[in-house]
Amino acid sequence: MLVLISLFCCWLVFREFRKEKAFTNFDRGYIVVLVMLAMLFAWSPIRYWRFESFLTNLASQIANRSDVEVHCNTPVDAIFDNAATVAGHATIETGRIVLQYPLCAQLMDYLDDPHNVTKREKYSVIVYVHEVMHIRGERNEQRTECQAIQRLFRVGMLLGLPAHIAKQDAITYFKGDFQKHPYFSTACAPGASMDERLPDSTWVGMD
Ligand SMILES: [Zn+2]
Repeated sequence: MLVLISLFCCWLVFREFRKEKAFTNFDRGYIVVLVMLAMLFAWSPIRYWRFESFLTNLASQIANRSDVEVHCNTPVDAIFDNAATVAGHATIETGRIVLQYPLCAQLMDYLDDPHNVTKREKYSVIVYVHEVMHIRGERNEQRTECQAIQRLFRVGMLLGLPAHIAKQDAITYFKGDFQKHPYFSTACAPGASMDERLPDSTWVGMD
């Protein structure tokens, strides 16, 4: 929608240049305003498009498959999304991950300013990693969540979080909200049956 408004502004500018007459000061002001509006309306879609590409490339690298696509739902997408009540969903067969509105905005805010973050913003990372674990081929929700927890520290760093924040927030999630999460399992703990013993696991070095 915003892209269409931006393109409409570009078309109005183009129309001015096609008129075969000298520009008055008013015309110049009008064109400057139109160009500014076009840039303003294009800014948000371009920002999301770049962020989706970033999340897609990272997910592709983690899941080791090339057909991954991460999509950030807009409020309009959410209306037509049958699974709009969940924070994210993934389709193993196609490699498509959908992050529900406003999860991408929360994740961007977290990465922009990791020192000043709300609980919802922090939670956005585990949702992303959880969906990436699904497209690796895991369907069982408890195992998916546990694989995500063990990689939460590493993926946090790959997303650009400072190492100490990625570590601290990953451990806080494991010891805190995860213990009350519907996908909680006692088998998801250091030395328990879901422990993959990754060298850079979230819980390596944890008290
Ligand atoms: Zn899931």
